[in-house]
Amino acid sequence: MKKLEEYVRSIPDFPEEGIVFRDVTTVLQNKDSLKMSIDQMQALLDGVDFDVIVGPESRGFIFGVPIAYNLNKAFVPVRKKGKLPCETIEMEYALEYGTATIEMHKDAIQPGQKVAIVDDLIATGGTIEAITKLVESLGGEVVKIIFLMELQGLKGREKLKGYDVDAVIQYE
Ligand code: 5GP
Repeated sequence: MKKLEEYVRSIPDFPEEGIVFRDVTTVLQNKDSLKMSIDQMQALLDGVDFDVIVGPESRGFIFGVPIAYNLNKAFVPVRKKGKLPCETIEMEYALEYGTATIEMHKDAIQPGQKVAIVDDLIATGGTIEAITKLVESLGGEVVKIIFLMELQGLKGREKLKGYDVDAVIQYE
């Protein structure tokens, strides 16, 4: 059987020249690699005591929800500004390309809850750094951060010093 990383499609110069985009749609569109991706990400949470998975729009939803469901945990979405209907807190941050503002519902995390953050990929780490701030400002404790893929060259982990960070697939 093919290895999981062989299902990731690499697209040069998307969305901008010089960026190699790691496309997960090819992982999702095959039943074997879809299962491998969820199972292997979920294994990174073995032995971790947590209450809720927080995942950003949109690929954080794809991986976060099935893992939360399998482990009988809750899921909290982080969305782009203007999408959530109730009272929110927001955070602006720098992306690999451009800036963005993300939001969470104010009542989504209870003080003292242990949070695992799930996303498809860490590049500069800006997205997840912003999410750690949102979670902590609501009184949550980030106990683990997991990704399907890590772009090591962009040194995202340096933004997440002090957190327990893991990824299934590493790119230099
Ligand atoms: P960061 O904030 O770590 O710089 O960027 C990570 C965010 O951008 C993630 O939410 C991720 O989905 C998206 N992203 C950036 N580059 C890529 C890429 O090459 N492939 C995929 N699938 N997502 C990317």
